[in-house]
Amino acid sequence: MLLTITYTGQNTTELGFLLYKNPYRPQFFELNHGKAYVFYPEISDARTTAALLLDIDPIDLARGKVGATGGGLFDYVNDRPYVSSSFMSTAIARVFGTAMTGRADEHQVLSDSVLDLTATVVMLPCRGDQTKLHSVFEPLGYEVSFTGFVSDENFPSWGESKYVNLTIHGKVRLRDLLKHLFVLIPVFDRQKHYWVGADEVEKLLRLGEDWLADHPEKSYITHRYLKRLRPLVNLAFERLALANAEDGEVLNAEPEEAEEKPDKKLNLNKQRLGSVVAALKNCGAKRVIDIGCGEGNLLRLLIKEGQFTHIAGVDVSHVALERASEKLKLDRAGEAMRERVKLFQGSLTYKDARFAGFDAACVVEVIEHLDVSRLNAFERVLFEFARPSVVVLTTPNGEYNVNYANLPESGLRHEDHRFEWTRAEFRSWAGRVAGQFGYAVQFSEIGDVDETFGAPTQMGVFTLCE
Ligand code: SAH
Repeated sequence: MLLTITYTGQNTTELGFLLYKNPYRPQFFELNHGKAYVFYPEISDARTTAALLLDIDPIDLARGKVGATGGGLFDYVNDRPYVSSSFMSTAIARVFGTAMTGRADEHQVLSDSVLDLTATVVMLPCRGDQTKLHSVFEPLGYEVSFTGFVSDENFPSWGESKYVNLTIHGKVRLRDLLKHLFVLIPVFDRQKHYWVGADEVEKLLRLGEDWLADHPEKSYITHRYLKRLRPLVNLAFERLALANAEDGEVLNAEPEEAEEKPDKKLNLNKQRLGSVVAALKNCGAKRVIDIGCGEGNLLRLLIKEGQFTHIAGVDVSHVALERASEKLKLDRAGEAMRERVKLFQGSLTYKDARFAGFDAACVVEVIEHLDVSRLNAFERVLFEFARPSVVVLTTPNGEYNVNYANLPESGLRHEDHRFEWTRAEFRSWAGRVAGQFGYAVQFSEIGDVDETFGAPTQMGVFTLCE
């Protein structure tokens, strides 16, 4: 079974740095059920392809050599050596694990950028699900093509084979492509080699964190990834709903349960955005930038206010930006609107000239997604270089979490949160930053106030003292 990833553009041999695999040296990895090889069938400045080839031992599988109690996982005659299956996902995680995290040391900028990437998956089993290839991959920004086969040319009556060779092409970050393949290959291959348990829910949510909650086929993907195991699927839906509510929307667990319940979290989100808009109106800002704008919920409110003449939204996730653009209908907007509202991809932790020239910047529920080690960089990017007159920043108050049932194991409200500060921690951080960069800061609480633990969200409004 073979997976290839092709990078087209300039200096494409740098793919090797992102994958942590030297393009000039084929490499070999021992896996539980066989061997994996990484090599580059083509290398040039304009086009570089990395290939991951798996050599699975069908006899080992049949004998249940690894990880099985009692009998083997498959019959002696099985398709596993030839098809792209859950084994391919395991190999992706094992061989390209670092690339999946997006960590790339001195090539971080490239790793954070969307690249022109094409992946081919040879012999993907997907009986009867071929139209799903479109509806699953296209919302993630890929063009999809595939070739099918007849089962046996000598016996046309046997019909189409269940396998296809799939090609997806898009402008995506490498880590996102790897995560998409990791989750979606086993969605199509129903026969998974691993035990599907609660930790698969964690894996699905972690790898799907940027894209699954809003995917139109989230139900299909979740059911299939979790082998249709009801309790696990329900658990995944609950968690997706929590994640999504946090990011601004209430997601119904399943389409048939579409009954709208007024949700506390939705209210909190509305209140939070309302407080941010009020702070911005109050300070008289005209030019506003929303950094970590996500799908543009705040931008939508800002657009309604004539006071804001220039509105920019930035996010590190281009999937989020695409959704923002769709939600705000920017592609269908007139000239004036397109002049007024701009979206662009960027990161808060890299100095960026495009962040400058605004009266106010909003950073709403974003800093808790940053590694603590990157906070210094963020502080300088925003308060020293971009230097808007006003910064409106919100973050969860971790003390309030005692009021939430069903938090992820980390005890934080979202899998991707790196920290959730207490009120004292937030005030101490914000006070230090304000002092260091010449701002004054005022605090407020947003949401239902718990007498002991405060409100769920805390906000700081920083005002430049010059
Ligand atoms: N502000 C939005 C979204 C909050 S979710 C709202 O309140 O609805 C956090 C967002 O921060 C996500 O969209 C995520 O992609 C973005 N993000 C995370 N790290 C970032 C970084 N380093 N630079 C810019 N955006 C980032």
